[in-house]
Amino acid sequence: MPELPEVESLRRILAREVVGRRVVSAVVKEARLRRAIAPDLAARITGCAIARVARRAKYLLIEFDGDSVLMVHLGMSGSLTYRPHGVALSGFDPRHDHVSFTLDDGSMLVYNDPRRFGLMKLLPRAELASIAELAAIGPEPFGKEFSAEYLWQVTRGRAGAIKNLLMDQKIVAGVGNIYASEILFRAGVRPTRRAGRVTRAEVGRVATITPQVLREAIGSGGTTFRSYRDARGQPGRFVERLRVYDRTGKPCLVCATPIRAVVVGQRSSFFCPRCQK
Ligand SMILES: [Zn+2]
Repeated sequence: MPELPEVESLRRILAREVVGRRVVSAVVKEARLRRAIAPDLAARITGCAIARVARRAKYLLIEFDGDSVLMVHLGMSGSLTYRPHGVALSGFDPRHDHVSFTLDDGSMLVYNDPRRFGLMKLLPRAELASIAELAAIGPEPFGKEFSAEYLWQVTRGRAGAIKNLLMDQKIVAGVGNIYASEILFRAGVRPTRRAGRVTRAEVGRVATITPQVLREAIGSGGTTFRSYRDARGQPGRFVERLRVYDRTGKPCLVCATPIRAVVVGQRSSFFCPRCQK
């Protein structure tokens, strides 16, 4: 499932390639995503130029000149790829190419999503701040707002597992299952620990390590397990740098103790029973 680093990697590539380009045609072949794509989306986008590509949490925001913003969520299995004129990308089943935009230099943006849990919605820029999907989201992990003091305050009195809290989008934007496991391993905190019992020193480490892990993942183009591909159709390389995720039974890279798996909040979580208290 694409998380913040995957969406940020995508944003960076698109920001380089498509800003200033105009949409000359838009085709919605399959509108039935998590919520149906509005019937007038293609007509409203055609003729618009892309002014900026932004991101909030796991949402990609393609801003057009004038007043509209295309909000894209990749769901479980979505990819938005940039295809230069005449370039076909391998690894994508064309039956799942649900939406495509052709730009004025002949290049294309194609949304492919086998499981169709994604979201694509065009809205006026002014509505962005108040839209339900975005209004409830907590601070970005790279901002000043996400500090040790902030994390200390929001964890106090919380009985739930620290891993669930890190994955709670209202607490911090964009951290999902893979990165939560990696962050807690590096911070030396077990994913099952009650958030309210995590010490000040541990909270401080989690707050420092969270943006570090995410930045490292962005630098590697994200993480690919199954279907995820970046904007150029390439798998993310952070998978080579994962220290605990999906490594059940394999030796801890620090102390050689076998890595264990535990289910927290219905998601598999991975930890070293020796390094993580
Ligand atoms: Zn260990």
